Amino acid sequence: MKTDDTTSSFTHISTGLIHHPYTAPAGFEAPQPGVFKASTVYFPTVADMRQREWKDKSAYTYGLHGTPTTYLLEERLCSLEGGLQCMLVPSGLAALALVALAVLKTGDEVLIPDNAYGPNKALADGELRHFGITHRFYDPMDPDDLSRQITPSTRLVWLEAPGSVSMEFPDLPEMVRRCRERGVLCALDNTWGSGLAFKAFDLLAVGAGGEGSLAVDISAHALTKYPSGGGDVLMGSVITRDAALHLQIKLCHMRLGLGVAANDAETVLRSLPSIALRYAAHDQTARALAAWWQTQPQCAQLMHPAFEGAPGHAHWQALCDRVPGTGLAAGLFSVMIDARFSQAQVDAFCDGLKLFKIGYSWGGPVSLVVPYDIAAMRQAWPGHLKPGTLVRFSTGLESAQDLILDLHQAVQAHLPMA
Ligand SMILES: *Cc1c(COP(=O)(O)O)cnc(C)c1O
Repeated sequence: MKTDDTTSSFTHISTGLIHHPYTAPAGFEAPQPGVFKASTVYFPTVADMRQREWKDKSAYTYGLHGTPTTYLLEERLCSLEGGLQCMLVPSGLAALALVALAVLKTGDEVLIPDNAYGPNKALADGELRHFGITHRFYDPMDPDDLSRQITPSTRLVWLEAPGSVSMEFPDLPEMVRRCRERGVLCALDNTWGSGLAFKAFDLLAVGAGGEGSLAVDISAHALTKYPSGGGDVLMGSVITRDAALHLQIKLCHMRLGLGVAANDAETVLRSLPSIALRYAAHDQTARALAAWWQTQPQCAQLMHPAFEGAPGHAHWQALCDRVPGTGLAAGLFSVMIDARFSQAQVDAFCDGLKLFKIGYSWGGPVSLVVPYDIAAMRQAWPGHLKPGTLVRFSTGLESAQDLILDLHQAVQAHLPMA
């Protein structure tokens, strides 16, 4: 509200511009929420400053402790994933690191699936090991192996469904039960499912928090992927349904000084309304491409959890496709190119694609391709994988037909069967 007295408390225009009395009227409503940016947050009085509480989100104290923009994004992400509390961090990997640093201490052990997102394994082998926290890798397709590996010092079990790159879909509810039986925290890297393909906090679909519900303790999500949807933002979230566990994570987050930029939060807020539509579109395109690969003799094995014969397909069906034919999957799949082709030929095939760009990450509008060296990523070559060279595709939002034509021309040019 404009007042007449704009000059009484300053003599210089700099002061006047900083302490300007005009306040825009409240009540501005528009499709996108406002963007609030701050390090400093004002308190009307010292007494107010002393009594304000940020941990329960009832007020604002400092930019790192939350703004209207970050609170809003946190609440919407809770709705997406079926959680109750959320912390935002500057990347998906930072979400994995925050979980580890918040719940593990010297002498503890963390178990990680052998097909986990690579940098999560590197974190365990780097900082965690340096802090005296041990780790072991378990067979993601064998709940008995997980049970066997849990010891009295196991504090945290990571889960991923499906695993990165080789895309095996585990029996997630059974893995969570095994952790429950032994009283071990379980954290899911929920980036693939994105809160859409299945509910991490309601694995038996009884209604989150309802009687007989089965939930992970923690869901970490690389918002960089589908929640961003643009290939232009790095962000992560850590979602829980337990207030004490959330507080433990929140205090660690605060002590580490983690925060996200308001403009980045705004970008994710802007993309969230379309996430379900985009996810379904990425899914459809990926399945069209995967179905095409199945007809190609160069494809020794297709790794897409929604396809018959893919590793863990039955587990995907049980968790994601409860009403057969309605299940969702991310727009990601891998193809094992037949071992008769050299690495150089497979590289040339990837280079020869025109619409698919070569690049890490996924979830944006542009289709991507990356050849991976599975032998270097695993403890041993997994028995369920055929020999060959693995190529991972992530589908963007281009037309499936155009993408198939692109695959066709590059296969013809670089992977001759004769
Ligand atoms: C991309 C990804 C991450 C890391 O996300 P960044 O924002 O790139 O750090 C973690 N887990 C999975 C499964 C991912 O695909």
